[in-house]
Amino acid sequence: MDFEFAVEHQSFRQEFRDWLATNLSPALCLDDASDDRVASDRETFERRCVWQKTMHAAGWVGITWPKEYGGRDAGLIERVIWDEEYTAARAPVLPGNMGLSLVGPTIIHWGTPEQKRRHLPAILNADEIWCQGFSEPGAGSDLASLRTRAVDQGDHYVVNGQKVWTSGAHFAHWIILLVRTNPDVPKHQGISCLLVPMTTPGVSVRPLVLMTGHHHFNEVFFTDVVVPKANLLGPVNQGWKVSTTTLMYERHSAGGRSHTAQIARLIALAKQVPIDGRPAWDHPAIRQRLAQLAIESEALKYTRLRSLTRQLRGEAPGPEGSVRPCRTHRAGSTGCSPLGNTRSRPERARFSATSSASAYSVCRAADARAPRRAQAGSESRKRSSTRSKASG
Ligand SMILES: Cc1cc2nc3c(=O)[nH]c(=O)nc-3n(C[C@H](O)[C@H](O)[C@H](O)COP(=O)(O)OP(=O)(O)OC[C@H]3O[C@@H](n4cnc5c(N)ncnc54)[C@H](O)[C@@H]3O)c2cc1C
Repeated sequence: MDFEFAVEHQSFRQEFRDWLATNLSPALCLDDASDDRVASDRETFERRCVWQKTMHAAGWVGITWPKEYGGRDAGLIERVIWDEEYTAARAPVLPGNMGLSLVGPTIIHWGTPEQKRRHLPAILNADEIWCQGFSEPGAGSDLASLRTRAVDQGDHYVVNGQKVWTSGAHFAHWIILLVRTNPDVPKHQGISCLLVPMTTPGVSVRPLVLMTGHHHFNEVFFTDVVVPKANLLGPVNQGWKVSTTTLMYERHSAGGRSHTAQIARLIALAKQVPIDGRPAWDHPAIRQRLAQLAIESEALKYTRLRSLTRQLRGEAPGPEGSVRPCRTHRAGSTGCSPLGNTRSRPERARFSATSSASAYSVCRAADARAPRRAQAGSESRKRSSTRSKASG
């Protein structure tokens, strides 16, 4: 591994850092941007769309996209530096992130000239916000089992089915949708990919609200939804290949984010939140869990750097992409997916927070319910320990 950055990379870093310092309003900043992906309400969403437009106008959006499609042709190192600086500045996840990181690159790879012309500029400037309709209630890790059906009706398909865990669907204008177009062949060979406007009659979105009160996920239902064949992305029944492209970008989209700041905030929180009448930090078991979290976070940093080194050398992806989510999963978090997504890392911190520093820590600081929940957590622990003593 090479830990040094070249001079041109250092100046790229300085340029972006200076630009953020001048242009990023503190009102947009967040302690942990991954806690509030897309946006918590429409007003915030609109504000972040304006922010994405500002960034785009200055050339800081879609930097790895080819120049001919509005990007900078930047390399992986610049992308990692971009991520590091953007996270360190506490900037919000761009509302068009799904389009920028996954859908746009997939359209660049598979799209027709018309699809590229229609969608790519709108993705860059946040006029089109996208969501990803892959997972279904019976098709998560085993994505190829998906059952949402698209029936060929000549010049269009008619789609019926359901998606789940669809991040940001309630704000999205478009969905990249995996559907079954041929049920009579082996499952990977009968899937196609459609680009569907969310305003199409028959598309409905139902929120899935987290225990924190945050609305990020949705279920999306399709009832007799008419989709023109012009909206097919890639060849019919080759949707598995198209989705592999998307998922490859998803795996590689995680840059150099570190959890150091999050862990520091967790420690500060543990010093404030009482458990059984004294700060959580005074409980050796809590300190031990936090220490373990810090150790794993450091180890993950080097795993990330190993993965980066491989990519820079043009080598095939190694096991690192799977190690990260699996480490997360082993430690009792959510979101571990053999699809190799890296989205589970923030959940690691949240779930450690839950078990380490009481339920308080999964609530936003401003949440009036937070202290009561912490007490409730403490009370229920007392009750269960009383129960076990009684039964013992
Ligand atoms: C933050 C976040 C955002 C997401 N956003 C989206 C989105 O926008 N659009 C979208 O389509 N999806 C989204 N997903 C879903 C995600 O991509 C995966 O599809 C999903 O997390 C995995 O499916 P599942 O939850 O049904 O888990 P399951 O497939 O039920 O798996 C549950 C557990 O069982 C394990 N498991 C499964 N099969 C096996 C096996 N054969 N052997 C051993 N272990 C197994 C898995 O590793 C996992 O730990 C999101 C997920 C997260 C965490």
